[in-house]
Amino acid sequence: MSSLSSLTLTQMKAGLERGDFTSRDLVQAALDEVARLDPSLHAFLHVDGDRALAQAAKADQLPITNHPLHGLPIAVKDVLTVETMPCTAGSRILEGFVPPYTATSVKKLQQAGAIVIGKTNTDEFAMGSSTENSAYGRTMNPWDTARVPGGSSGGSAAAVAARLVPAALGTDTGGSVRQPASFCGITGLKTTYGRVSRYGLIAFGSSLDTVGVLAQTAEDAALILSVMAGRDPLDATSADDAVVGRVAQRIETNGDLRGLRVGVPKEYFIGGIQPEVQEKTRQAIEQMKSLGAEIVEVSLPHTEYALPVYYILAPAEASANLARFDGVRYGPRSDANAMWDVFFKTRGEKFGEEVTRRIMIGTYALSAGYYDAYYGQAQKVRTLIARDFEAAFASVDVIAAPTTPSTAFVAGAHADDPLAMYLEDVFTLPANLAGIPGISFPVGFDSQGLPIGMQLLGPRFREDAILRAAHAYQQATDWHTKSPKI
Ligand code: GLN
Repeated sequence: MSSLSSLTLTQMKAGLERGDFTSRDLVQAALDEVARLDPSLHAFLHVDGDRALAQAAKADQLPITNHPLHGLPIAVKDVLTVETMPCTAGSRILEGFVPPYTATSVKKLQQAGAIVIGKTNTDEFAMGSSTENSAYGRTMNPWDTARVPGGSSGGSAAAVAARLVPAALGTDTGGSVRQPASFCGITGLKTTYGRVSRYGLIAFGSSLDTVGVLAQTAEDAALILSVMAGRDPLDATSADDAVVGRVAQRIETNGDLRGLRVGVPKEYFIGGIQPEVQEKTRQAIEQMKSLGAEIVEVSLPHTEYALPVYYILAPAEASANLARFDGVRYGPRSDANAMWDVFFKTRGEKFGEEVTRRIMIGTYALSAGYYDAYYGQAQKVRTLIARDFEAAFASVDVIAAPTTPSTAFVAGAHADDPLAMYLEDVFTLPANLAGIPGISFPVGFDSQGLPIGMQLLGPRFREDAILRAAHAYQQATDWHTKSPKI
């Protein structure tokens, strides 16, 4: 592993400011690591080394002042648009599509000086939990390449875990930042719905989609979020920092957790979970207690409905969002005589199996006669799930729970069983339904040497609370410094 590319974002920033190395050195180190390791990981779908090096050379000529991410290399999940780079969303239906504009989240990072070296692999249209649903081949988990990195932001997670880049953007609609962070032994921040603009994010479930960060530490995630957050006139659901509270560039901390009330929901510690996951999560909660936190048992009684509710709402929204891919406006077009046949043939040939399944479920749930029974009912239960959290946050500041029921599974393990794959999301979906932020970070390893992650959830727009708690934990422990030997 190149020592430069294994630094955290914060360490890279400090080194650049001291003049220990240049941005060109950092970008070159990242590209060298991609060249060396990505053939066995397949974290990237596209890398633009020349452009990144040219941007770094330019950055090295400029003063660093006022650019919080000056000259720092990052990667972006391939569902966020970056001008000049192809954007496929892991789908054949967007093969060769080069978007004419850059997503606001990415643009803000670039304006702050960050250099995007490439686009990372994803489940097709972010539908999946293993990155096996990418039309361009699966991504390998750097801890064990026979296993999946999680998904759908599996490319971003693998790239950060293998220390190809210090940070990468992901998206979380039902767990796609936290679950791969957990499987890859890194830190993953899911933002509050509305915290970061969705402009330029290829829509999956518009009421659930959020942009998030994969990084080595909570400290680095905070730095990226502080730059990305805020109101965007191009996304009507984006919130104004001045109204909902600004995200600080640095986490305010005195190293302990005194005064923090941590809720432990009994519904998340149940049978069927890998025992080591429960055990390590409980140990991490104990550690938080020894740092001064007060541990309180809470109840989120509607947790068991999150999975069925999500798997009605997300496909319903997806079926509407994906209607735009018709072979006319974007990407490749299948040949047929009649106009309708062009649509049907293109969609039939270019969408993968999971995407097709979601479109069918979603279309059914929204169809006349079934709408009230499925979509309408799911919306009501969604409100109950959000209220569970509101009630819990009346007495605690954050909620601690396992991120996933198990550690990374072997590729192909759920290939013939979509329901088993959906069950991977059981602990992550509720936060998306409620629109609240969450952070997953490593808290140990299982007996096979695979990383275990735990998540902290916070009230809406209280990223500061979960970042501060995760940061204090990381200052007292060293799980986040462990990297795979590849
Ligand atoms: N695994 C979930 C799904 O397949 C969540 C995906 C996501 O968050 N993008 O829908």
